[in-house]
Amino acid sequence: MLDEKLEPIYAEVLRRNPGEDEFHQAVREVLESLGAVIAKHPGYADNALIERICEPERQIIFRVPWVTDTGEVQINRGFRVQFNSVLGPYKGGLRFHPSVMLGTVKFLGFEQVFKNALTGMPIGGGKGGSDFDPKGRSNGEIMRFCQSFMTELSRHLGEHTDVPAGDIGVGRRELGYMFGQYKRMSNRYESGVLTGKGLTWGGSRVRTEATGYGAVFFVERALATRKQGFEGKKVLVSGSGNVAIYTIEKIHQLGGRVIACSDSSGYVVDNAGIDLALLKDIKETKRGRIGDYAIARGTGTTFVPGGRLWDVPADIAMPSATQNELNGQDARTLVKNGVIAVGEGANMPSTPEAVRVFQDAGIIFAPGKAANAGGVATSALEMQQNASRDSWSFEVTEQKLATIMKDIHDRCAEVADEYGSPGNYVLGANVAGFIRVADAMDALGVI
Ligand code: NDP
Repeated sequence: MLDEKLEPIYAEVLRRNPGEDEFHQAVREVLESLGAVIAKHPGYADNALIERICEPERQIIFRVPWVTDTGEVQINRGFRVQFNSVLGPYKGGLRFHPSVMLGTVKFLGFEQVFKNALTGMPIGGGKGGSDFDPKGRSNGEIMRFCQSFMTELSRHLGEHTDVPAGDIGVGRRELGYMFGQYKRMSNRYESGVLTGKGLTWGGSRVRTEATGYGAVFFVERALATRKQGFEGKKVLVSGSGNVAIYTIEKIHQLGGRVIACSDSSGYVVDNAGIDLALLKDIKETKRGRIGDYAIARGTGTTFVPGGRLWDVPADIAMPSATQNELNGQDARTLVKNGVIAVGEGANMPSTPEAVRVFQDAGIIFAPGKAANAGGVATSALEMQQNASRDSWSFEVTEQKLATIMKDIHDRCAEVADEYGSPGNYVLGANVAGFIRVADAMDALGVI
């Protein structure tokens, strides 16, 4: 339910951003938490502060022309939404997926503002991407696309202005092509302009692992509040990309067993536990499909084309693929099957109805905004290393990530307690993130 003071703000968001359902969903979820804040501190409703937070500072849309291997000219659309820079340069990934449109990027940018605030680090929020589909494209095509994309995007970036990273469809390879083009155009080796870079060209150790590891650290800390842990638990992880793979890796290190994962073609169930070396080989090296895993692994593993991964009985679920991939019915199935915790590695993977089901059932629910903040936090660590021309060991960097995730967890829990809703990490994350951004905006005047 929305507080009556917040209803007109939401109505204005709907009016200004027609057809952008995911953005509406993300805004509504935050506004639902803010009723408690303005009841306690009415000043936060003054000076159109909340209205300003809901309006991006800048939205850039551009044409991305490029040429296929067979000489055909293709046109894609590029986006960068620079949402809020009150805490630092805009920071947030780039997504290449055919489903990307302005509303997708706006929803991700909006989420990013609060997530980045929660890390306590000096980073504002932004997001970008394109409706380009990298699947089935050759390296040459990917390179030409990335170069064309960066040719336009570069004029809006800078280590003190806007610092993108990867997201769906954008990994080390794509970031490399984009960094190369930026370097060429600017004639500057400006390492701090992109994060998620390779280790030989300015990247940070643990950045590849950070989002998945961080999500597991968050859930581990939440489980500890109930005297539980990953040891011996059966876990479902959706997706099989960057976040999913390193979520699986850390769960296995902590003694849990991931028994199913997926991609957009279906899911595999492997009761012995996902063979991570095999999964990495298929997904990271060969860029194959999840069905290939079942073929390579042989008996004892099932591939279910299409279908709902969430039907598989397990103790913990970590949705790590994409938004709205887990609906109310999936949530009821998970709860019926005895799930004790759901930790979001992806951004907004659970629908609002699914979130309500988890909260009503009293299970641990860790929203992506908090649980997947380890990726961007480690990007900020990468920026620190770039600024000081330093490079930290894996152990040092992982320890910093673990501390950041512990602090995010504890801050969300503390704020949830303070606002009378113990254990409600959604409220805790939204309110804690909002307060940091709002206080800074208030201090900087009407901007
Ligand atoms: P990847 O591109 O590496 O992997 C995405 C995975 O999700 C793939 O297995 C993909 O399957 C699947 N997927 C993507 N879109 C869909 C869809 N529409 N339906 C079903 N499956 C889908 O991306 P990441 O792992 O980097 O990102 C996953 C999620 O985590 C996203 O929500 C992203 O915003 C979020 N995130 C990522 C961070 C990062 O550091 N990378 C940081 C914080 C959040 P297929 O290959 O078949 O498309």
